[in-house]
Amino acid sequence: MNWKKRLTYFVLGATMVATAVGIAGCGSDTKQAAPAEKMKVVTTVFPVYDVAKQVGGDKIDVSLLVPPGAEPHDWDPTAKDLKEIGTAKVFLYSGAGLEPTEKILAKDVLQNAQPVELAKSLTLLPAPDEDEDEHDHDHDKEHKDDKEHKDDKAQKEDKHEHEHEHGEFDPHVWLDPMNVAKEVDAVVEAFSKADPTNAKYYEANGKAYKEKLQALHAKYEEFGKTQHDKNLVVSHMAFGYLAKAYGFEQLGIMGVSPDAEPTPERMADIVAFIKEHNVKAIFSEELVSPKLANAIAAETGVKVYVLNPAEGLTEEQTQKHVTYLDIMEENLKTLKEALAH
Ligand SMILES: [Zn+2]
Repeated sequence: MNWKKRLTYFVLGATMVATAVGIAGCGSDTKQAAPAEKMKVVTTVFPVYDVAKQVGGDKIDVSLLVPPGAEPHDWDPTAKDLKEIGTAKVFLYSGAGLEPTEKILAKDVLQNAQPVELAKSLTLLPAPDEDEDEHDHDHDKEHKDDKEHKDDKAQKEDKHEHEHEHGEFDPHVWLDPMNVAKEVDAVVEAFSKADPTNAKYYEANGKAYKEKLQALHAKYEEFGKTQHDKNLVVSHMAFGYLAKAYGFEQLGIMGVSPDAEPTPERMADIVAFIKEHNVKAIFSEELVSPKLANAIAAETGVKVYVLNPAEGLTEEQTQKHVTYLDIMEENLKTLKEALAH
């Protein structure tokens, strides 16, 4: 896997530099300090990995279990993943129902790893409703009938994918930057406890990163205040925290599974909603098929934009070291472009 290779090169590179500096500076003192051992940190999903890197910097050796291009909701840890968790000093996971905790938190899996759930200190939103028509637009209420309910349910049980059907909470906590800021505190605390020698370093990194998150938050807040079209019509109901933080309303056009084919009735409903509310843009994402969004666009003339739920990176983004901040800045640009009309 590329990120692993990259990490190896990075570690090797850092070691070589340290060695070179050691040699250059050693003159009379021939004793070389062994390169300080980095604290081993294992993370589950990208948003957690990113926080770990921001706080841990070059004092940690961090790995990410869900590989690039993979859908984190479908993640089922392999035996190798579980073994990797046991090598960590600190094991960070997002929580709120995202990962299969019954597997990853088993005693024999954790070994001596200290598990930390980043969502623990956050105020959680309930999982998006089974019927994604939860939003109180009269139109949808009129069109909703029992049959449709059953269809949705059946489809959902068959598909058993993507949406967080077992979860009580919406796990996409990181889509509110201020939630990430709180997670930073949790990570600083965990790292400082596990590696007190570098506590000051972790604190400084945490503080600097929180300032960036605050600046990002301010930009979103400003946008939320000035934007009048606040319908966020998305393919995947991942943006609940962002919507709540900045006064948007999230509407899930695809229902529970982004790849599911909706019934013709449902399709008609979506199209009617788009027309009635003068929706100009719908948002798809990179890790799921845009098929349905494109079909709706073809029928209604809305434009399809990509909004990134920051759940994971593609191979290419991984190689470019794309960060959470990069994604959220890009999302803000997209939202401005898509909703300005
Ligand atoms: Zn999701």
